[in-house]
Amino acid sequence: MEIILVGRSNVGKSSVIRQLTGKKIPIGRRPGVTRRIARYRAGKMEIVDMPGFGFMSGVSSAVQEKIKTEIVRYLEQNRSRIMLAMEVVDARSFSEIVERWQRRGQIPIDVELFSFLQELELNPILVVNKIDLIRRVERDAVLDDICEKLELPSPWRQWIDIVVPISAKTGEGVPNLKKLIKHKIHELGKGHLLGWLK
Ligand code: GDP
Repeated sequence: MEIILVGRSNVGKSSVIRQLTGKKIPIGRRPGVTRRIARYRAGKMEIVDMPGFGFMSGVSSAVQEKIKTEIVRYLEQNRSRIMLAMEVVDARSFSEIVERWQRRGQIPIDVELFSFLQELELNPILVVNKIDLIRRVERDAVLDDICEKLELPSPWRQWIDIVVPISAKTGEGVPNLKKLIKHKIHELGKGHLLGWLK
């Protein structure tokens, strides 16, 4: 059984996995290098890190498309093994990136993938990472805006069973994320697989 993570490169997926598993997995690899699907063992489960996408130096949009196709194919082919999906976004840059794509009349990969995860009935968790970089007084507005862009009407607080602001750097919000993962996996009747999630 698997938990999968998707997200733009550099949003902090590796840092999130480190927070969840306590494993010292490499952080801050240079973006721009096409990465393979990475698997990390977590008790009887696996955490599967999809290749990061996004506009990275030296990576053409054709390569971006290829990464997206690879992710979609993986999700479709392995649906029965996937218990839970998480999409990680960067609290500071998400809205700006989405607006840039929308001005070009395109649907951002992040938005497309989030609705795809919903279509597959994976009940995705939206992990809004790097919240430490947003001033406290601005956080609600930033989170409302991110939710709106993913077609979750504001206020964001009505979506606390989907949206979790965290800092994988300081650890803020990580207990909430763990609680939500546990809740969702218990709901699937698979709580016995969670021994690794402290
Ligand atoms: P990945 O490419 O998505 O796997 O991202 P990484 O986990 O390698 O992190 C990319 C960069 O963002 C690294 O320099 C991390 O130290 C930094 N980073 C990750 N999470 C956070 C966070 O919550 N806050 C801040 N300020 N930086 C973070």
